Amino acid sequence: MKRSRAALRSFLILALLFAFSIITMALDCSSCGRKVKGRYLKVDGKAYCGKYCYEKTLPNCAACGRKCTKGYFKKAGKYYCSQNCVKTTLPRCSLCGTPFKNGVKIKSPSGERVYCPECAKLPKCFCCGLPNHCRKLEDGRWICPNCYKHAIFKQAEAQKVFDNVREKMRKDLGIGTDHKIIFKLVDSKFLEKNSSNHQPGQELGLYKHNYTIKTVTETKYSLLGGKKEDTKSYKTNDRYYIYALYGVPKYKLIEICAHELAHDWMQGQLSNIKDLKIKEGWAEYIAAAVNEMYGQSKYNERMQNNPDPVYGGGFRFINTYISKHGAQALMDYFKRLNEEGKK
Ligand SMILES: [Zn+2]
Ligand SMILES: [Zn+2]
Ligand SMILES: [Zn+2]
Ligand SMILES: [Zn+2]
Ligand SMILES: [Zn+2]
Repeated sequence: MKRSRAALRSFLILALLFAFSIITMALDCSSCGRKVKGRYLKVDGKAYCGKYCYEKTLPNCAACGRKCTKGYFKKAGKYYCSQNCVKTTLPRCSLCGTPFKNGVKIKSPSGERVYCPECAKLPKCFCCGLPNHCRKLEDGRWICPNCYKHAIFKQAEAQKVFDNVREKMRKDLGIGTDHKIIFKLVDSKFLEKNSSNHQPGQELGLYKHNYTIKTVTETKYSLLGGKKEDTKSYKTNDRYYIYALYGVPKYKLIEICAHELAHDWMQGQLSNIKDLKIKEGWAEYIAAAVNEMYGQSKYNERMQNNPDPVYGGGFRFINTYISKHGAQALMDYFKRLNEEGKK
């Protein structure tokens, strides 16, 4: 009995060994799954038919797409074949394109962009607000090459833009006056000197309504010798001016003209509205509508995101008012404000 037990144990051990050798002989390739025959490749305890099968299991570089045959770098769950390919994942400077680790975020009317520390130090364009290799205009404004390319310096060219915007506003928006408006390109010094509420970067144009106040005193005598004086004053000799900065790209000049012409319309219809937020908000609202008419509504993000409480706040107020109550309700509201303003 004892003997046969020992014999059984040794048989079992033999049987186990046999099974093991069968398994080792029937290795599957970890890549293609076929049985491995003859010479094979072993990597990290796994068997492969050969180099070809092994390389097939390697990850592709997330940047250049090649197989990472010479090792890889892992970043944010992705594989890269080289340091150079890792570099391509770094954010790039919006201006010079160099990848960087510590970029500088710059907010401008046209959105937020990131720059390398060097480019971030460059002067910012007066028009688009972004740093660039700007040139200096005579009045000290910096202008970037992109804006400079489309900038208008000639009065005659600007006048054409102005006339076109005025015509389109009258025809398509029903907003216009018969005022004889003198339109002129000016420099920033002129604009600063002549705007009462100048905010750099907000107004690139200016609307002015000048007039002469005449006072007439009528004296009436009654039959009994009493004297009654009646003084009346009235506005006369109205002059209307719209000024816009020279060296502004055409798209922006369109916007400026629309903004200032909206002021002119309000002056003509509702001259007693004093609230700056309403006045500027309305002008910005019309400028946005005109941008849309010219197929350049991408510039309306500036109004929408403008943090200024008068310009941005005013624009959002008008915009919300119209979408909630409609354009007619806004006109009624304007009329009420105008009546209140008379008091
Ligand atoms: Zn294989
Ligand atoms: Zn690569
Ligand atoms: Zn840069
Ligand atoms: Zn610019
Ligand atoms: Zn304005």
